[in-house]
Amino acid sequence: MIITIDGPAGSGKSTAARLLAERLGFEFLNTGAMYRAIAFRVLAQGIDPSDDERVVQCAESAAIRFEKGRLTLDGDDITDAIQSESVSLAASQVAVNPAVREVLVGLQRRAAEGKRMVSEGRDQGTVVFPGAEAKFFLTATAECRARRRQAELAQRGEEVEFESLLATIRERDERDVSRAVAPLVPADDAVEIDTSEITVAELVDQLATCVRD
Ligand code: C5P
Repeated sequence: MIITIDGPAGSGKSTAARLLAERLGFEFLNTGAMYRAIAFRVLAQGIDPSDDERVVQCAESAAIRFEKGRLTLDGDDITDAIQSESVSLAASQVAVNPAVREVLVGLQRRAAEGKRMVSEGRDQGTVVFPGAEAKFFLTATAECRARRRQAELAQRGEEVEFESLLATIRERDERDVSRAVAPLVPADDAVEIDTSEITVAELVDQLATCVRD
């Protein structure tokens, strides 16, 4: 059984998906972290994120693994390193590349084989798991999402101005919705939830209730 949770940056997908998976005893797949891992490798190798050919080679040769909530790339734990703003921006750039998406979609489907999984991202309900048993699409205002991102970064000791985060969120949104392959749109059969005014606990309750019904 697959449950998909899609939505823009900062809509609360990752936290909600992780908690929902815990509650249901499902596995959790954070596909944004996979795009971030490729972006991290691209930046570490000094490749321009818009250099399609080199970015694809970089994606094809990357060894990405999830284990016990940690993400490793070529054997190194990069779970925390991929949360930076520079990686966020580069991830949204490499994500427009159709060949990179093909590599990661293959990995995502393989990760789900024979499993009960909550998978979150941008295209999980539309492209990767169109037959998923339950689909959600989370939204929130850009301001609210930028505030959440600011709080998240502050927890990690990174102080970034609100206006700059808002601009990055808008830039990433624009790129996600306008790309030719797998643009960010809700699946026709997804339940849409605005998370601007609700707590994480309320959101997870709402998701669990929908899944049960
Ligand atoms: O969700 P997160 O912000 O970690 O994702 C990083 C970037 O990866 C996003 O800005 C988006 O462009 C891209 N992404 C995607 N498809 C997914 C997950 C993430 O294009 N399934």
